Amino acid sequence: MARVLIQRGHCSRRSGATGTSGEQKQVTRIAELAAPWLEQHGHTPIVLGADEPLPSGDMFIALHCDGSVNAKAGGASVGYRNDEKSKRAAQAWKAAYQRRGWPFGFRADNYTKALSQYYGTGWAAKKGIPLAFIVEFGFLTNAKESAWLRSEAGETAAARSLVDVVGDVLGHPNSELHNGSHSEVDMLKRKDAGANVGKWQHRLNQTGYTPPLKVDGDFGEDTEKAVRWFQRRFGLDETGTIDLTTAVQLQAMAHGMAQHQ
Ligand SMILES: [Zn+2]
Repeated sequence: MARVLIQRGHCSRRSGATGTSGEQKQVTRIAELAAPWLEQHGHTPIVLGADEPLPSGDMFIALHCDGSVNAKAGGASVGYRNDEKSKRAAQAWKAAYQRRGWPFGFRADNYTKALSQYYGTGWAAKKGIPLAFIVEFGFLTNAKESAWLRSEAGETAAARSLVDVVGDVLGHPNSELHNGSHSEVDMLKRKDAGANVGKWQHRLNQTGYTPPLKVDGDFGEDTEKAVRWFQRRFGLDETGTIDLTTAVQLQAMAHGMAQHQ
């Protein structure tokens, strides 16, 4: 289990660098998607604002989206202080982000001593957190990158890349969840009925399905549509049934949403 500190760049900040327009909202979305997935994988995510003091942890990641007066400027990038471990972790994140679908390439790494003072990476060093780096998911001032970042595919890829890098660098204690050896539910499908179906209808509503399903315990056409919506939203196979993968994801997301409301 890893304690992962996720700092939403600039959030809660009143002075100093407050970020590109829309940046705080975007990185908050990504953090809120990533946190329940990290929990699901057996980690403890701690989501922070920019000026909040850091608790102890195993990894510190500051989330940012870049901006520039040059509308053509683009590319994702990483920043880290001068240490090999953080550098390797930051580069593992780049690989994960690309694997998850980031389509626009990368800028050069920002690998300088000065960076030790930015966005909490300096505090992280003082706290003895062994891995600390900054991710820039892309430019919000670049029309193409911004449209992708704000899409479901982009938000999902960004959040997934964070989960992946924790797994790549520190391992996932709960990876057996994905090998099917853990089964909380039997598969539910069209025409099933009962209290168990109602529980999942409620969870679909919690994750933001609109108009909300009637929680009646009947797995009908509307429920199947909601399941397909959820599966598309999170890049799962669109089966329309609540299989193990869908159940795990749905449970994690409903849990995360309930916490953040
Ligand atoms: Zn920023």
